[in-house]
Amino acid sequence: MKDNQSAVLYEQACKVMPGGVNSPVRAFGSVGRTPLFISRAKGSKIYDEDNNEFVDYVCSWGPAILGHAREEVIDVVTKAARDGLTYGAPTKREVQLAELIAEIMPSMEMLRLVSSGTEAVMSAIRAARGYTGKDMIIKFRGCYHGHSDGLLVKAGSAALTQSQPDSAGVPKAYSENTLIAEFNHKESVEELFEKYKGKIAGIVVEPVAANMGVVLPQENFLHFLREITLENDALLIFDEVITGFRLSIGGAQAYYGIKPDLTTLGKIVGGGMPIGAYGGRKDIMEMISPLGPVYQAGTLSGNPVATAAGLKTLEILKANPQYYSEMKEKAEYLANTFREYGTHSGEAVHVNQVGSLLSAFFTEKQVTDFESANSSDTKKYAVYFNRLLEQGIYVAPSQYEAMFVSAAHSWEEVKRTAEIIKGKL
Ligand code: PMP
Repeated sequence: MKDNQSAVLYEQACKVMPGGVNSPVRAFGSVGRTPLFISRAKGSKIYDEDNNEFVDYVCSWGPAILGHAREEVIDVVTKAARDGLTYGAPTKREVQLAELIAEIMPSMEMLRLVSSGTEAVMSAIRAARGYTGKDMIIKFRGCYHGHSDGLLVKAGSAALTQSQPDSAGVPKAYSENTLIAEFNHKESVEELFEKYKGKIAGIVVEPVAANMGVVLPQENFLHFLREITLENDALLIFDEVITGFRLSIGGAQAYYGIKPDLTTLGKIVGGGMPIGAYGGRKDIMEMISPLGPVYQAGTLSGNPVATAAGLKTLEILKANPQYYSEMKEKAEYLANTFREYGTHSGEAVHVNQVGSLLSAFFTEKQVTDFESANSSDTKKYAVYFNRLLEQGIYVAPSQYEAMFVSAAHSWEEVKRTAEIIKGKL
């Protein structure tokens, strides 16, 4: 595989951008190579500046659930762009998008559009604090909720691969209201509620953790979180930036049958353009300015081009419920392939999969929490990553990210991917 153009661009990029990238995981740091610069993408495929073609299982880290550059989405985006890129004023389309989100996720009785997942979670937490009058928030070790100050504590995603679960530059005072519990460990949550009685505004959780690799909630864990928050007058915030419209159209809350007080969305909701959203119970959302005292705003919030992409994407997903069973079957096939590969090669591999999300961890342990995820052999992951890349399969350049199956992946591609995973091609 030639990557001359990427190498040249990387050298240029490093002079003007930290690490040559605009988001750390893109730097390919943990897989021992320099990043590929992408020039275009269509359907399940992406192409780099050297014109190498890859089957893409990163899918822009989630948004590209329909595959890249789906015609109907591109059409509405093009039309919207011609009508003006931004007005900083209300539009009909943002009302339509908000109504559709609320219809698909009925727990979001009222919501607000923002421009990223980070903003969505940051704002939801402000709303929770404003509503409850309490300051403390529980998050789980290894979960990632964007890069706002108070949430970069024991964070997952690239913060994990760069061995920086806690960021420099975050004043202690900003993070001392962030309490850390262990995913799937009920007692760690109980202990915090006991110790900080009456001070906890809420729990924020990825209902399926997908930023320490994919880690499923064990039976009743999410129900337990629902109960303990109710018992303690605290709010339950589901961060569905990854799981929203992916685990099922109604997200993890529909999949597991739990009603959170607040939900945060990103990625798919913008159909590839920058949108985030947060919302939930009306009485909580009525705290948001201009109705209430919790301030939150944005010049580009509800951007007309982005809302066109998001609305069309959600409409297509709603009209095609079969996508969910098809994506799940393909993800299951890949998960079983990894398991077979583990058995035959003698390599210790543990696979977690739910819906179209999966992760193969290079560890002997069952992966159920941060500690077991972190027992993975990242050097082995790097070897596996490079082997796949050389054969035209693009997976996340990090052990601690999900593999995303989209509606555009064909069975033929999935089966070829499986042969490559097994080392047969
Ligand atoms: N929450 C979760 C669960 C995420 O996975 C991410 C991003 N991967 C975020 C929040 C932050 O979203 P963004 O990168 O759009 O700011």
